Amino acid sequence: MRLVHPGLLLIVSGPSGCGKGTVCDLLRKRNPNLAYSISATTRRARPGERDGIDYLFLTPDDFQHQVEQDGFLEWARVFGHFYGTPRAWVEECLETGKDVLLEIDPQGALQVKAGYPAGILLFLLPPSLSELENRINRRGTESAEEKAQRLKAAEREIAQIRYYDYLVVNDKVEQAVLTIEAILQAERSRVDRYSKQKLKAMLEG
Ligand code: 5GP
Repeated sequence: MRLVHPGLLLIVSGPSGCGKGTVCDLLRKRNPNLAYSISATTRRARPGERDGIDYLFLTPDDFQHQVEQDGFLEWARVFGHFYGTPRAWVEECLETGKDVLLEIDPQGALQVKAGYPAGILLFLLPPSLSELENRINRRGTESAEEKAQRLKAAEREIAQIRYYDYLVVNDKVEQAVLTIEAILQAERSRVDRYSKQKLKAMLEG
């Protein structure tokens, strides 16, 4: 990927139970121009999930084929299933000046940042570890063993916060979204996002 594209790449990540999905849903609703990258996954669709809208549901063989073709910007195994961000779609959006939102796990987020340092890496943190535990318990979709696994992973992921650009505490969803919008606005004004030609064109009106 070229080092800087006209569009912004916002990567929202954080541990399971931090509320990434809810925050990103509201962010997308309030910012319809933010292009949302639909991930590929090998996990089964949950009731109500639609192929091509919530995820691209792939067989393990098809997923592997995409990995071999370098079709993913990043991919990771998350709690027993594979997830990946389709490369071509994201690059095309960025090159045509669209801002793109990725909602992915911390392993994938750090891979994207390593390959594309201009990406804005944002860690969404629950107000406390006990609140994270409450949220994982409340969801009620995992076994006791899976819950313990998620909490352990969360502690590991939180220890890597220093590799991120921004930390947003998800206490109230609305407030977290306002903070992310402020970050996007500030990022758009960064001097290093303006090429000489763009600056010249602006000044010449
Ligand atoms: P779920 O199966 O509950 O929808 O998602 C499980 C985890 O996978 C979440 O942390 C979610 O953010 C993450 N995830 C979703 N899509 C991707 C992706 O394309 N790449 C990576 N690395 N993680 C993803």
